[in-house]
Amino acid sequence: MTDFYVFLDLETTGLDPLKDQIMEVAWRVTDDKFRHVGPWGRMLAQPRSWSDFYHQLNANTIARKMHEESGLLKEFYDAGDKFELIPILEVMSYLESNLSSFAANHRYDHGDAAALHLAGLSVHFDKAMLQVNGPSWWFGQDHESLFHHRMLDLSSVKMMLDCSEVPWKNVPSDTQHRAMNDVDYTIRQAKEFRAQLAEMYDDHMLVQSKVAGDL
Ligand SMILES: [Mg+2]
Repeated sequence: MTDFYVFLDLETTGLDPLKDQIMEVAWRVTDDKFRHVGPWGRMLAQPRSWSDFYHQLNANTIARKMHEESGLLKEFYDAGDKFELIPILEVMSYLESNLSSFAANHRYDHGDAAALHLAGLSVHFDKAMLQVNGPSWWFGQDHESLFHHRMLDLSSVKMMLDCSEVPWKNVPSDTQHRAMNDVDYTIRQAKEFRAQLAEMYDDHMLVQSKVAGDL
């Protein structure tokens, strides 16, 4: 059985996991070929404190402008007016039950639940936000934790491809700073990088065969 990848993206009031707040979360579970095979979801989270929320967005003009332009802020306030924002603890608890029931239903032969790897662009940031807002057992070192300690950071993959000096191409940028859109963009990137690495391997094997005089 394959490991699984939880492509996850958060939209937040800023980049400080200890102070800033999660506004929107989206996730989609894929297999190791990055095909969508598991649960997914998108939720708007109610701020822990509205006064902190206004203060954070007023102080962070980059985040505020980004969320205005993406349409998130309008949707966020509209949902707040209709009492449709979900308290962050309930968002975290839904995410946990959604992922843990999937993992429990996909077990290795030795009985452990499937490993879930967080995946995304600079996903260490999303992990840090989840560590602050979710329970501590999510990120342990053993099979009892929700997430595996190894993550798939596509930003690191891109850096490594750059360092390799092998020609590679990126997927045209489509990050709209809306969580579900960004999740789907990173899944397209992961599929594309996987395909390009396979192509590089095929090219390499072809050259090796020619050198060996097989062709
Ligand atoms: Mg995003």
